[in-house]
Amino acid sequence: MIVEIISVGTELLMGSIVNTNAQHIARRLTHMGLDAYYQTVVGDNPERLRAALDIAFSRGDCVITTGGLGPTKDDLTKEMLISYFGAEPTEDTEALRRLEERAARRGIALTDSMRKQATVPAGAIVLQNDNGTAPGVIIERDGRVCIMLPGPPKEMKPMFDAACEQFLRARSDKVFATVNLKLYTMADKGIAVGESPVADRLGSLVDGENPSVATYAKEDGVLVRITAAAPAQAEARAMLAPVVAAARAAIGEEYIKYAEEE
Ligand code: ATP
Repeated sequence: MIVEIISVGTELLMGSIVNTNAQHIARRLTHMGLDAYYQTVVGDNPERLRAALDIAFSRGDCVITTGGLGPTKDDLTKEMLISYFGAEPTEDTEALRRLEERAARRGIALTDSMRKQATVPAGAIVLQNDNGTAPGVIIERDGRVCIMLPGPPKEMKPMFDAACEQFLRARSDKVFATVNLKLYTMADKGIAVGESPVADRLGSLVDGENPSVATYAKEDGVLVRITAAAPAQAEARAMLAPVVAAARAAIGEEYIKYAEEE
């Protein structure tokens, strides 16, 4: 399955907030072995969201959105996707019960705008929100899937992690295993080796596709990332081990600050 992430929110577009949701989701997708080739940020605007969905579904079969599920007028992701999928809107009983309970706890009446958060596409999987108000939704039709998640990271993350277990993992046929080798900087130890000499030392190891070996010049020192893909974690780890050993030997142990598994 090919997945795309669409992060909805004018605040993101304007640079007022950092897109940590996309980072979290992208990491999890990688761990699950799902291919994700593009990410989009779009403001709270129905036409542009529709255009972003058209493009995303022309390239992949699953779109994960975050943001725009809340009670305010500019929260339009769900309405937009209900119409996009040609689905019937319906009120989710459990989501409504939770909204009512929450309002009662706060001693306030449930307004129409608060209530609209319980509207979901008929036939969709509803992901109840244990950390906020708007539920998430998984809608699937004609081979296309959209997973809609709320914007606030403290709501999105646990919900996404549950959605992974329930839904996405079953659609992945491979997992990735990664080892990162972090190298010393001059400031750390008085010896260091730059990115291109590291690539030279690694030689033909960087040509491998699976496991793949890539070098990155980070501000806090060179990083060498070695990644293997296989149907199961144990298999991926087994494929990784000899390449990690070869890379360590090629770089020279004295230059390696630490190794971490992802
Ligand atoms: P709410 O019920 O809070 O309105 P929502 O699903 O409508 O939820 P948004 O209104 O789009 O979400 O965003 C709410 C807040 O969540 C933003 O102000 C921001 O703090 C945070 N947020 C939204 N999107 C992201 C993102 N991609 N990365 C990090 N934080 C985000």
